[in-house]
Amino acid sequence: MKLGTVVGIGDDLMLFEETVPELCRYRVQVILPVEGPYDYLAPEGSAGGKPLQPGQIVMVPIGKRILPGVIWDGEPDTSVPYGKLRQIEEISDLPLINDELRQFIEWVAAYTLFPRGSVLKMVLSVPQALESVAGQKLYRQGLSDAVDQSFRITAARQKVLDLLAESGGWTGADLAREAGVSNSVIKGLEQAGVVEGYFEVPDFSFPLPPADIKGPDLSEDQRAAADDLISKVRAGNFAAVVLDGVTGSGKTEVYFEAIEAALGEGQQILVLLPEIALSSQWLDRFEQRFAVRPAEWHSELTPALRRKTWRAVSEGKASVVVGARSSLFLPYEKLGLIIVDEEHEASFKQEEGVCYHARDMAVVRAKGCGCPVVLASATPALETMVNVQNGRYERLVLSGRHGGAGMPDVELVDLRFDKPERLDSGQGWLSQALRGAIRQTLEAGEQAMLFLNRRGYAPLTLCRTCGHRLQCPHCTAWLVEHRRFSRLQCHHCGYNTRLPDSCPSCDSEGSLVPCGPGVERIVEEAKKLFPDARIGLMASDTLTSPAATREMVERIEKREVDLLVGTQVVAKGYHFPYLTLVGVVDADLGLFGGDLRAAERTFQLLHQVAGRAGRAEHKGRVILQTSDPQHPVMQTLKAGDRDKFLEIEAETRSRGGLPPFGRLAAVIVSGPDEAELDNFCATMARAIPTIDGARILGPAPAPLSLLRGKYRRRFLVMTRRSVAPQAVARSWLQGLKSPSRVRVVVDIDPYSFL
Ligand code: ADP
Ligand code: ZN
Ligand code: ZN
Repeated sequence: MKLGTVVGIGDDLMLFEETVPELCRYRVQVILPVEGPYDYLAPEGSAGGKPLQPGQIVMVPIGKRILPGVIWDGEPDTSVPYGKLRQIEEISDLPLINDELRQFIEWVAAYTLFPRGSVLKMVLSVPQALESVAGQKLYRQGLSDAVDQSFRITAARQKVLDLLAESGGWTGADLAREAGVSNSVIKGLEQAGVVEGYFEVPDFSFPLPPADIKGPDLSEDQRAAADDLISKVRAGNFAAVVLDGVTGSGKTEVYFEAIEAALGEGQQILVLLPEIALSSQWLDRFEQRFAVRPAEWHSELTPALRRKTWRAVSEGKASVVVGARSSLFLPYEKLGLIIVDEEHEASFKQEEGVCYHARDMAVVRAKGCGCPVVLASATPALETMVNVQNGRYERLVLSGRHGGAGMPDVELVDLRFDKPERLDSGQGWLSQALRGAIRQTLEAGEQAMLFLNRRGYAPLTLCRTCGHRLQCPHCTAWLVEHRRFSRLQCHHCGYNTRLPDSCPSCDSEGSLVPCGPGVERIVEEAKKLFPDARIGLMASDTLTSPAATREMVERIEKREVDLLVGTQVVAKGYHFPYLTLVGVVDADLGLFGGDLRAAERTFQLLHQVAGRAGRAEHKGRVILQTSDPQHPVMQTLKAGDRDKFLEIEAETRSRGGLPPFGRLAAVIVSGPDEAELDNFCATMARAIPTIDGARILGPAPAPLSLLRGKYRRRFLVMTRRSVAPQAVARSWLQGLKSPSRVRVVVDIDPYSFL
């Protein structure tokens, strides 16, 4: 209808005034840490056009910035005067953030008590993906014969070239940002012909596995488990299934079958792995089975690949995504199956930004998608096993290792009796029993591994004269010596400094001595004891890239390493067929420190490490060095009785009303000024409400009472299973206003108590 025209309705004449009609109002959720959507007006020139739909991605002005947001459900607040509203700047042509994902965002926000905008930000985590790509200039390596030979390659230029050597397809802005150089560096390279600019609409898709792929013949119980999963995938209903089997029992082969079935249904599949960057073996295996590589999602992706992946996922052009926990928030078009491998891993719990547990949220997302979720582990979390017992989750069991390889024998060495002997150069950490076992293994031409979950050379440096201990200036933590780099390092904030020549407290020269072992120190001892052995070290700070990891894994596979020393990175699903001995230097290490899951984590980690021994035809042997051989963790590991361990653990926790028999929320209060912080904590303590079935403890100084220069205090909300800690925390904190420099973070279902 044209404006200002006269329209006849029956006999009446209605006169339209010469005014511009009001633009439609929309609720837009922006990606700021705010609750609830804000109202905006439709963009200029959209009057009379198609109304916008919930889920559409838009750009909106907020303050001085333009930020992405999503049209949200619900009616706008018409009481806000029209003139006060700002307009939507731009409407993206990307697929909608669909109902399922919008509801998931709302659910996660309500559960974690984080603002909806913060959760949405995890979904719209790749701003470049929202930009239109048509007509963008991209860069790749130039042809070498076009290069002006006198052109000098400076350090800045080299950074750009290194990135382009890995992959082409970068925008100028991404390239400059990632290389940390200015645009003029790229321009200069282009002029010299070293890099080449080109225009292309990039291809945002990942190849689909061919239809005729086939896995290995499965054993009887593998087949039964796979068939069960396949029928659930085809039925397309929600189901949570625990795939329970020892390392090597074929869990991966079984869930590969489920993936194949979901591919057959044209669905997308998400595989969540802990520490994806380290699982080159998993990716190779996937490729062997499915002939293509899956789309990966983790923090190491280049911006170009990040954008490509986000777009491909949202357009349904990435069929299998394997990723770290953040891949749970990608905008899948049609998710048909979620796998959470190593579901017991604590690294699925995110503690920075929005605090959430990716395994638990995966179950929620699967429910919303109406698809099965598979939780695979050799040592399922107690939470998971309790969910099996109360019927919420189903369980499929794979018994024994594939091909009949036996479980390794576990022996305990009591360090109180078999004290490691001193070497000429200082203290030793390996007992006679362990030294003997290593010698035997090496003589038999097999591989051995020493495990110690501690990076660096020594966890503590002490002055022999005055007893001073070197501490991080920003955290309540000792500095760890890293001898390879001749530095002292804080493992909490990254602070590092040179090892001083004299004691900072009493000035004595040469009085500083390392205390306790880290993996570097074990390498040193092993070199002395076994001078002919080829020794390899695997720790997160020695494996600086996926390529470095791959190289080390290959060296071990090719038997170019006889004795491997490593931290928990070696516990990840690697398969080394010639590794027959695993020695755990300090099995008690994880048992201390006030974490309610300390025993469970130690059991899981040591079980997993032990599982590295003897995976092929050679029988494995595991030696745990401990000062407390009677501890239930050591006893059940020795007996190979996981269920007994879970039983003891369940009893301890249920007696204490601890998860999963009760619920927890941690409240961490932090700030730069200690007096102001304590003051506010006192106010919080006075406001603690009395609620039936709930207790609030605190404030207590956090074990890390100083972290990155901020003081920290903790409260703990403990509730009965039937009481939601969210409601308790909300009713307690709602009316409290913290000073601007004090931060209050609620962590529902906390895993870290530092
Ligand atoms: P898990 O995931 O439980 O640790 P995997 O699926 O990795 O177990 O299996 C362990 C090893 O045994 C792998 O090398 C795998 O390829 C092999 N394997 C498992 N099941 C079979 C089978 N049915 N046929 C052939 N090889 C198998
Ligand atoms: Zn620090
Ligand atoms: Zn001193």
